[in-house]
Amino acid sequence: MQGRHPWVYRSDVAEPSVDGDNVPSGSLVRVLDQRGKFLGTALYSSSSQIAIRMISHGSVVDLPALVAERIRDAIGYRKELVSNSDAYRIVFSEADFVPGLIVDRYNDVLCIQILTQAMDAAPVREAIVQTLREELQPAGIVERVDARIRELEQLPPLQSRLLWGEKSSTVFTMNSGVRFHYDGLEGQKTGAFLDQRQNYAAAAQHAHGDALDAFCYQGGFALHFALQPAARCSSVTGVDSSRQALEMAEKNATLNGREMEWMEANAFDLLREYAAANRRYDTVVLDPPAFAKTRRDLEKALGGYKELNLRAMKMLRPGGILVTCSCSFHVGAADFFEVVADAARDAHKTFRVVENRGAAKDHPVLLNVPETRYLKCLILSVSN
Ligand code: SAH
Repeated sequence: MQGRHPWVYRSDVAEPSVDGDNVPSGSLVRVLDQRGKFLGTALYSSSSQIAIRMISHGSVVDLPALVAERIRDAIGYRKELVSNSDAYRIVFSEADFVPGLIVDRYNDVLCIQILTQAMDAAPVREAIVQTLREELQPAGIVERVDARIRELEQLPPLQSRLLWGEKSSTVFTMNSGVRFHYDGLEGQKTGAFLDQRQNYAAAAQHAHGDALDAFCYQGGFALHFALQPAARCSSVTGVDSSRQALEMAEKNATLNGREMEWMEANAFDLLREYAAANRRYDTVVLDPPAFAKTRRDLEKALGGYKELNLRAMKMLRPGGILVTCSCSFHVGAADFFEVVADAARDAHKTFRVVENRGAAKDHPVLLNVPETRYLKCLILSVSN
């Protein structure tokens, strides 16, 4: 909070009380510093380690009205920023000043995620649905539930479901013409990695020759390489360990009128085999899942990034392109840069940083909230 970070940990909060009683979960609280100076209004969680999430530096009486206003502002911000795509993040929690609410748009279907006690309260939920309906006229609004988060927040269990309207699946388009299926209710983890949207287009500018998308999920990078005119790829192969993700990738390729190669494999093993067999590629994408879920995993995560990047670098032909990403917040940009540089030294190759990128602009970064700056995407070219 001091330093304009919106979180206060439970260990830093003096006993919160309302006239001597416990503060109800999810309520609005006035925040004072040690000397009693008013700092603003926050959302209180009775169970999270993050006891307090600031929502305003002033007084707030009507939370549902404030949430509605913040959602309208967030939509307005996207109108200025997003073009050539009908899929993007509309509300990104703290980065849009609505801690605990995420809203994604997939064409005419909206997907919401509620992550805190305060956002789960019935009047707030009503305001969210009402505002989204008024502002965006969707055909359906689905809620995706993260069971673990509800448990941590001590909220009653819920199923992912259609909250409003009739439609929970649709087709959306990114970067002027690459089409994807969206199913809001099927599977464990559906939806797209919307934060990579602009990185797909940027990477496609440089992709060429034989391309390998090593953690391809539903085909985000691979489809752009196969479809965008800027990419000059002669072959594109997508690899993932999840069969379900690859089935969707295949459906996406068909939707775009392409036949593409999808392989179910452990990318670590596959890269090791390919490197040993002297397989060569002109473009490789590495977009693995977050290796470091907590600070304690950092060393191990850095080891994982180094190994992957080293293997991919060895496989690149002269002039080749490596698109390498990390979505672990705990691996900072400097750490990531260093580990990739370290891999390049071991690969005995010199790389030029063509682009040093982050998440798409609809995932805003707050200057004083490092947690909002989690995605790193480097586009590198082999100089020799
Ligand atoms: N690049 C994708 C997102 C990747 S998310 C996009 O832009 O849409 C990470 C993916 O890695 C997931 O699809 C997950 O199934 C896959 N994955 C996790 N461990 C893996 C492994 N060892 N080998 C291959 N894929 C793996």
